Amino acid sequence: MQIKPSIYWVNPDNSADGGEYRSNTYLIGSHDSASSDGLILIDPGPSDDLVIQRIMEYAHQLGKPIRDIILTHAHPDHSLAAPEIRRLTQARLHVHQLERHNIERWGGWDEQVDVWYGEAAGWLDLPQRLWYAHTPGHSPGHMVLFYPTAQAQSWQDAGALFSGDMVLGAGTVAIIPPQGHLRQYLDSLVDLLNFRPDIVLPGHGPVFTQLADKVQEYIVRRKQREAQILALLAAGPRSSGSLMADIYADIRPDFRFFAESTIRAHLEKLMEDGLVTTIKNGENEQAEHLQYARLPLP
Ligand SMILES: [Zn+2]
Repeated sequence: MQIKPSIYWVNPDNSADGGEYRSNTYLIGSHDSASSDGLILIDPGPSDDLVIQRIMEYAHQLGKPIRDIILTHAHPDHSLAAPEIRRLTQARLHVHQLERHNIERWGGWDEQVDVWYGEAAGWLDLPQRLWYAHTPGHSPGHMVLFYPTAQAQSWQDAGALFSGDMVLGAGTVAIIPPQGHLRQYLDSLVDLLNFRPDIVLPGHGPVFTQLADKVQEYIVRRKQREAQILALLAAGPRSSGSLMADIYADIRPDFRFFAESTIRAHLEKLMEDGLVTTIKNGENEQAEHLQYARLPLP
């Protein structure tokens, strides 16, 4: 599906190649259709023959080679097709250096990465003008990408924001410690307000236009969740599992891990804020048995 003159959404009907959790994959051409620039592939997705085939077919239809592959982050649902597509196309693979740990954890293909990024923000090493900003929190080396329109007066003023898993078209973002870090995530959300895109292309769910509203909504939701956790802890120490049972009473079993992880991310932030501490629960100090308590202790 063509989103803008030079931006394409490879899998808007993404149930066709991986079901409801399938991440979004995008291709970027060039503002100047006569240019010899190739295509940029953003977040190819999981390692699956059908996923790879659809991407290669879409690029073929556009009549240009994929020359660069960029990962917003290296979680497996966004990234594992990258080495195979790189092999098929000889494209260069671009990743933030703080994703190295994720790549080692899921297959160890870090030698396939051609360009590592380490600055807070800058232009990507590409023929097209594509800006990146390091937005840690969901993952340590998460980046958002901004593609200014050809007519933009200043670079962040008008264009498309590829938001990865910072803000989504639907649902909420999971923050899973220790790789996920809620304080960093909240800071990165505020950083997104530097951008004034006319369209946001997220890592999951439909594309949308109102970035500032979405950021506000996410911040409010996190504050409400924090207040809820503090209120529950005011009645006495609790484990993260018991907090989850109260807060997400009707949750689908396959979402429990993400829900409890997100509660632990909140608890860790509250510990950093000096509002919560852990207390010893006999000899058993495994994470799932840890008890959290409000400070100051009574
Ligand atoms: Zn992710």
